[in-house]
Amino acid sequence: PRHIYGERKNSWGMDLSNEHVLSQLQDDMTMASGIDFNVSSLTHHDVAHIPAFAVLNPANHTDVVGQVAFINPNQVSDVVGVAINAQHSWQNVSPKQRADMIRAFADLMEEPKRMALLMMVAVREAGKTLLNAIAEVREAVDFCRYYADECERLNLSTPLGAVVAISPWNFPLAIFVGEVVSALCAGNTVVAKPAEQTSIIAHLAVSWLHEAGIPTDVLQLVLGAGDVGGVLTADERIDGVIFTGSTDVAKRINTLLAKRSDNPVLIAETGGMNAMIVDSTALPEQVCADVLASAFDSAGQRCSALRILCIQEDIAEPMIEMIKGAMDELVVSDPRLLSTDVGPVIDSEAQANLLDHINTLKQTSDYHEVRVTDGEQGTFVAPILFELKDLSQLKKEVFGPVLHVVRYKAHELDDVIDSINKKGYALTHGIHSRIDGTIEHITNRIQAGNVYINRNIVGAVVGVQPFGGHGLSGTGPKAGGCFYLQRLSRLDSWDIPT
Ligand code: NAD
Repeated sequence: PRHIYGERKNSWGMDLSNEHVLSQLQDDMTMASGIDFNVSSLTHHDVAHIPAFAVLNPANHTDVVGQVAFINPNQVSDVVGVAINAQHSWQNVSPKQRADMIRAFADLMEEPKRMALLMMVAVREAGKTLLNAIAEVREAVDFCRYYADECERLNLSTPLGAVVAISPWNFPLAIFVGEVVSALCAGNTVVAKPAEQTSIIAHLAVSWLHEAGIPTDVLQLVLGAGDVGGVLTADERIDGVIFTGSTDVAKRINTLLAKRSDNPVLIAETGGMNAMIVDSTALPEQVCADVLASAFDSAGQRCSALRILCIQEDIAEPMIEMIKGAMDELVVSDPRLLSTDVGPVIDSEAQANLLDHINTLKQTSDYHEVRVTDGEQGTFVAPILFELKDLSQLKKEVFGPVLHVVRYKAHELDDVIDSINKKGYALTHGIHSRIDGTIEHITNRIQAGNVYINRNIVGAVVGVQPFGGHGLSGTGPKAGGCFYLQRLSRLDSWDIPT
């Protein structure tokens, strides 16, 4: 049954190894690819926009996905005013009714033609591979059903008020939907601002949430870049901000909110410098598969992606050779093809930042780089592995398909863990070992939100593996976990039913 969270394989009963199922999906996606998107904000009253611009497919810049118009920033205040006025009536809608609307929205996303449309937009607007696009929609549905169930279980009736939800481009549907529906379930009104790169998929989601019954003054969408996010978070009438994105922007928002005397709530989920520690007892083939999935899937554009691989010296040489061999088999190409493993990075700014980092490290470090099969038309970055002497050259999160490898001797294990901790991030780490004592020791010493043992370190499942970190990686509570809705309400923990 679809309400079992974590049911990832063959979503909606889809078996992609079945040629008929695959060709039906591809037909639906082809039909969806002909749609000419022309989107602007979805607000309760008409607002002025600045002239629209064309959104280009990151894998192929000759493919125009649609036209997007950003809101005029001086209109943002009126939108916030509407959200505040709508607060009282939404608060009085019962948790059961709120939850049912969110479930109705999940049902809409699961209709095959709509699902194909969402997938097509995720591929063309965000450069997702086909498999990543399926997982994207699956996760958005999981968030809806999980938070709807939580909403009824907790029977929340005292929300924060009007909440701003700001999201990144790398999970343009799942994280956007997770933020929005959690706040709505808890009884808040919402002004949502998706990342500027992925407005179209967010526009689809909000229009379907309205179709599912969420009133247009309770949920409004404003399209814009960081300046619009800045105006929203500076509005002293808002009661809370849910933010997912870079650590730098989270700090800026935190500084703004901290100046207020009324303590608005901030939930921030930010970056990571995620490591995997592999000792000499690990199973090499399994390590190899998990490293490739963790470092290069989604072109490394996951907050949980593997950046630092630490391998015990005794097995380092053959282990690194095996990983290099497997890297050579990666297909870096058109994300619409099932055969593609790695698609493009989001835009030319991201590409330039990554190439800057790569070209600097190439001067001093050994590396192994993959060939891009078909990338002239888009913003591709070839997956690359660097061997570093230590971690001092890594100063901040590198958000792309770049893996940094260091070797350690058995007696240096604690030094390695401490050097990872010193980076200040604490999001996702992995351990590969067959010694229980080693696993326990590393788990206790390393700073992390999520630690994965003898598996890859990406793809946390809503309701099963609540996701989030601390330090430079965020504030908590974890998304897709049982404390999330409580943070969005004024309910005291002793009122929570068990
Ligand atoms: P970003 O911080 O550049 O942008 C995120 C959002 O913030 C966008 O909507 C952007 O328009 C908005 N924004 C920019 N400046 C703002 C300002 N001054 N005030 C308010 N809003 C502003 O991040 P990104 O490039 O979109 O996403 C990639 C980052 O997100 C990476 O660092 C990644 O690790 C992180 N991320 C974290 C998680 C997590 O769960 N921890 C999940 C996904 C992505």
